[in-house]
Order: sequence, then C-alpha cells, then structure tokens
Amino acid sequence: MRNEKIYLCLAHMSGREQKFIQEAFDTNWVVPLGPNVNGFEADLSGFLGGRPVVALSAGTAAIHISLLHCGVSYGDEVICQSFTFCATANPIKYLGATPVFVDSEQDSWNMDPDLLETAIKNRIAKTGRKPKAIILVYLYGMPAKIDEIQTIARRYETPLIEDAAEALGSRFNGLACGTLGDYGILSFNGNKMITTSGGGALVCPNEEVKKQVMFYATQAREPHPYYQHEKIGFNYRMSNICAGIGRGQMTVLSDHIEHHRHTFELYRELLAGIDGVKLHSEPSGRYYSNYWLNAIELAPTLRIKGESFAYEGTPRSSCEPNANVEALRLIMNAEGIETRPLWKPLHLQPVFADCPKYENGISESLFKTGLCLPSGPCVSDEDIRYIVNLIKTNIE
Ligand SMILES: *Cc1c(COP(=O)(O)O)cnc(C)c1O
Repeated sequence: MRNEKIYLCLAHMSGREQKFIQEAFDTNWVVPLGPNVNGFEADLSGFLGGRPVVALSAGTAAIHISLLHCGVSYGDEVICQSFTFCATANPIKYLGATPVFVDSEQDSWNMDPDLLETAIKNRIAKTGRKPKAIILVYLYGMPAKIDEIQTIARRYETPLIEDAAEALGSRFNGLACGTLGDYGILSFNGNKMITTSGGGALVCPNEEVKKQVMFYATQAREPHPYYQHEKIGFNYRMSNICAGIGRGQMTVLSDHIEHHRHTFELYRELLAGIDGVKLHSEPSGRYYSNYWLNAIELAPTLRIKGESFAYEGTPRSSCEPNANVEALRLIMNAEGIETRPLWKPLHLQPVFADCPKYENGISESLFKTGLCLPSGPCVSDEDIRYIVNLIKTNIE
C-alpha cells in the first residue's frame, strides 16, 4: 500500500492564480464580471486562434445556452453522441427537447459519421422534421472524425455543437477542437485540463453570436436604463474570482498538455507487449489529443486475479463493466490508485431509456472493456511505472 493516493486527474495550480484573485479583491471586482473575466476570455480566444469566447459558470451552462441559441425548444429533437457524460445531454432535457443518441466508431470512440447520417434521415422520415442541432463530443480529449461530421451537418444545414469539455488543447488537422463547429463548449471543472474551481465557456463563431450569448447569460436584460425583459434569460456568467484562477491556469495550460501527452507516451512504452491490454491512441497523424485521460481496453479473455469475486456485495445492473475490469479497478483502489470505467453510454442509462437511439454496439462494448488510468499533471513517471507493474503482476 502506497502512502499517497494517485488520482485520475487532480487540479494543479501554477502559483499565479492568487495574484489575479488578490487583484480582484484589491479593486473590489468581486462580481460576475470584471478584468479577470475579460482577461480570461482574451487568453482563451488567443489560445484557440481568435474565435470570441464567453466565460460561463459551467460547461453544462455553455451547452444549455448553445442549444437555446440554436432555437431548440419543447418537442424538438437534438442529435447527441451517446458515449459521453450526462452533462452533454441534460441541457436538451432542460429545454423540453428529446435527445436522439448516436453511437461511436472504433477509431476515435466518438460519433460515427455514417450512423449520424442514418439517424438524421430516419428522424426526418419518422417525424417530418430535421433535428435542431448535433452535439459531438471529443471523449477523453480525442478529436472526432470532424471533417466527415461537418460535411453531414452542412448537408442537412444543422448547427454543430462541439462538446470540447475534455478537449482543450486537442487539434484535428492542426485546428483547435472547439473552433470547428458552430459552437464550442469548454469546461474548467476541477478535474479537466485546467480548472477555475468550476466553470465553463462557450466558443462563438463571431462577435454577434457572442453578444447574444452574453445577453442570455446575464438574465436577458434589454438595453434600457431600468430592468426591461422580453426573453427568459439565465444567470450563467463566470465570477471574476473564478476567472482569476483561470488566468493563472492559462499560464500552465501548455505545460499541462505536454504532461498529459508525456503520460500517454510512457503508458504506451510500458504497456507495449502486454497481450490483452490496449491503450486508446490517436487513429492517425491528423489527430492530436490532449490525452486528458488515458484509457485502456481489457480483452474479455484476459484473466485478472480475483475477478470471480469482483462484483460481490455491489449493486448489479443489466449492463456493467466486465468482471476483469472491475477486478483491476478494485486492485488499484486497494493500492490507493483511482481508476474508473469509461462513460456508460447514455442510451443505456435508465433516465434516457425512452429516447430514440442509433446504436452499433461499439460504445457498449467499450464501456464493458475499458478503464481510465491516472493521467493529470500530478501523476509522475514513477506512478505510471507502479500502475503498469500492478497491471502486469495481476494478470493470471
Ligand atoms: C465535464 C463535462 C461536461 C460538463 O462540464 P461542467 O463544467 O462540469 O458543467 C460536459 N461534457 C463533457 C463531455 C464533460 O466531460
């Protein structure tokens, strides 16, 4: 048993965050707007190649506002990648619309372009109406087949929302993820590439959209000297204190990306040659992943010590990770190492059981065989050697 726990992805401070927070206190900008919010937005925009950015209270809020801006409302359908965290789809429900789940392809683990087109055609045939938007996710930081997805989105003139919550710093063909669709979503929750202790951003295609997003994010206040309201708005802006943390974090974002990618390289080197363990990797040179979390797949035939007892005393469900995956998770946990199964596809979540879905079995199979390994800036080379050694010594 080790003394220190190794976490999946811990927040890591640059040491410069407090200076920005102190400035906010010194100048009494302790409100959800101010110099840190503007500065953080400018930093993000610069990093992403120039698109306007609105800092918000959460990535979930950014998804909500992007859907609202697409005109999604009660009774509409929105296409959503099934293999993701619930936060991608929940805002569809907030608006009284229905998510239509589309499965993944094996290369990037993100939305399958062929299945996307099948889904759009089928929804039009069934309901007589086009889906109002498409939400694509870059799972674990891996870019999707964005060129093919974009072509389909344009063919059906449907807005494309990129959920890049996990993909800050990832690129496809050299272009920043989050700037390739009509809207890009970022998250600065505690465990993402950078943190603001909780926060998000919406990357907008132009200044006009940014203005409209700001309007909805600040209670839809009309430009009168008094409070005049003609639309329903939200209180979704980021606090100037949180944005101060964000500005400090931006000074180490490139270091974080480099470290996550280094972590991947070391896992790759050390896991090479272990039969039945496959590390999720960029499908080709066009993909540049930030490797937010490294993930492995365990072959169903791989035997892990203790797997016959893996689920003893825990609640069971009709779809869960294979026993060898759970056994490895328990072994790691006993050693103070945090690992986690991949996202359970949303089309398999009881809460979304009634939603239409277009599946090919890929995300379900990945959920059953996959495990995320510690990857953040706080994970050392020594930690990775220890983790890989544990995997090796517990294969039967
Ligand atoms: C974290 C995350 C979100 C939500 O971001 P919050 O800032 O936590 O609201 C959305 N989508 C994905 C894929 C995420 O991982």
